[in-house]
Amino acid sequence: MHPARVVVIEDEQAIRRGVADALRASGYEAAEAGDGDQGLEEAVRAGVDLVLLDLMLPRRDGLDVLAEVRRVRPTLPVIILTARGGEDDRVRGLKMGADDYVVKPFSARELLARVEAVLRRSLGRPRDVQGARLGRAVIDLDRREVWWSERERTDLSETEAAILAFLIAHRKRAVSREELLSRVWGIEPTGLETRTVDMHVARLRTKLRDPSGRQSPDAILTVRAHGYMAGPDLLPADAPSERAS
Ligand code: CA
Repeated sequence: MHPARVVVIEDEQAIRRGVADALRASGYEAAEAGDGDQGLEEAVRAGVDLVLLDLMLPRRDGLDVLAEVRRVRPTLPVIILTARGGEDDRVRGLKMGADDYVVKPFSARELLARVEAVLRRSLGRPRDVQGARLGRAVIDLDRREVWWSERERTDLSETEAAILAFLIAHRKRAVSREELLSRVWGIEPTGLETRTVDMHVARLRTKLRDPSGRQSPDAILTVRAHGYMAGPDLLPADAPSERAS
């Protein structure tokens, strides 16, 4: 297996160098880009496994890079590097499908832990749930595809597929935001970060809305004061239907 390849898109040279050096010292391949245009070019190259993306960039804004990366490679993991206080941008980034974020100034150790967690999720996914059904939709969690019909497909990000797999694997009970953070993101939860979970679930719900509008299967339920739970219409592919038809 080749070492994971990470693209670091950051215009502050000291930070970019520091991050790239820390990655290389940990056995990753690192490519560097100092502006948005170059960053986008590097990010969509073949063989890239993860992108670290600063948001305030010359030539092309980080959120714009993110939108374009999502369009070309919907499942490529992206971690946002954000300034303290840049909460609006962080929220927008998560809404646009970033997998995680790290607030500057961050330690190399913290960043590497996030990189490792996101890559672990994306390269070695839980094997217990591979497929699911939701109303008329067939969900392929390995390929992260939701098929509404032979021609209508919605792509899920790594994180969205991992959340879905976890909810399905534990579908008899509610799952807390903290549990999702530690099991899906691989990080120890702190109060602030539970919003990350909410943003991803909101995005996932939008993606799991039947595009025809004919059916509205309950994919994910909110359990008050606790977290989330797989809805009655979200079933493992091999489960017998639990609803009287
Ligand atoms: Ca910057």
